[in-house]
Amino acid sequence: MQPGHDSIKVCVRVRPINATEKRNGASEAVRCAGERGGSLQLVPRGRKPVVHSFDHVLAPACGQDQVFEHLGQPVVQSVVNGFHGCVFAYGQTGAGKSHTVFGGGSGDRGLLPRIAEGLFLQLARETQDEHMVRLSYLELYNEKVRDLLQAAPSQGRGLREPASLEIREHPRFGVFIEGLTKSTVQSAADVSQLLDFGHKIRVVGCTNMNAVSSRSHAVVTLHVERKVVGTAQAALRRAHLHAVDLAGSERMKQLGNNEQRQKESQQINKSLAALSHMISCLAAREHKGAKSDTHIPYRNSKLTFLLSGSLMGNCRTAMLACISPSADCLEMTESTIRFAESVKKLHTKPVQNEEFEADLIRMLQAEIETLKQQLQST
Ligand code: ADP
Repeated sequence: MQPGHDSIKVCVRVRPINATEKRNGASEAVRCAGERGGSLQLVPRGRKPVVHSFDHVLAPACGQDQVFEHLGQPVVQSVVNGFHGCVFAYGQTGAGKSHTVFGGGSGDRGLLPRIAEGLFLQLARETQDEHMVRLSYLELYNEKVRDLLQAAPSQGRGLREPASLEIREHPRFGVFIEGLTKSTVQSAADVSQLLDFGHKIRVVGCTNMNAVSSRSHAVVTLHVERKVVGTAQAALRRAHLHAVDLAGSERMKQLGNNEQRQKESQQINKSLAALSHMISCLAAREHKGAKSDTHIPYRNSKLTFLLSGSLMGNCRTAMLACISPSADCLEMTESTIRFAESVKKLHTKPVQNEEFEADLIRMLQAEIETLKQQLQST
């Protein structure tokens, strides 16, 4: 690994066997080495068990607090210090992604509400500094970026269909969504309220695999600005933290005959295939070394474009692979594990995003000048 490069951290969470699987007498095909080890065994019928190792493997008995301890706490610390962070959940529909990222009902809070709480606690400790936190929430549905906070109640508009937005790339600040709502939040309770608002607009649907499942990829971002005082010049640290709940991969035959569901699933599978292809190219580039000219097809789909900064740029990234323990899901579980193993090979280049006010003003003035010149020449 080159200096200044970080490995993408890869954790696997195995959900408990559910009531339907129990009723159907499903056997378990995943064995974990202890509650919180670093390896698991896949046990296919009639074949030899295969061991796979990751940064952490969270067994079915692990609670949401343990997921936060391994994945949330480090990313909170990082973002407060000005490093971009990303946690993304990947896996088959019904494997526990939304449960892990957002949480189940009845107070079983997931990673994101815990991250919000940890973030505000951490910021409150830096009593001399000023900070601002904003939240955005989007979904990628049928290759369209939809702003789920666009009609937030704080803006005085009623609920309406969110508009489709464009993804852009800034030469210095990287990928961003033009016109995406960023609502100021002052507490973890504000974050929960906005998430609840966005959830109501997010597209969910019924499949044969899961009573209600996410039919879109969701990206929640906390944008954190912290003015660190006490130095000769106040430093501004700006970082974002993405929490991504990817829609589940699934086999078309498990969807029933619903045309709408089939179309959504084709789009989901297409975007996940583009993501998988991009990761294989990144892994091939890592293998060949820094001088390799392997083309990385990150603009092939909106999903790869959106995640490109987190997978190959300035970001500290962690992946959470969610799997079911059931033998009936083994084929999909093996595919998730293969994907997780290719992500394990990747490195990003995180840097502290710190600027001094005077430099920032100079840079923005230069940018305004360039834009003026561009306008005049058209
Ligand atoms: P996905 O988002 O991957 O489609 P969900 O998060 O919706 O899957 O999980 C499917 C079902 O399994 C939900 O009812 C959820 O509450 C339950 N579940 C998932 N993971 C766990 C877990 N670790 N502990 C308890 N229940 C879980």
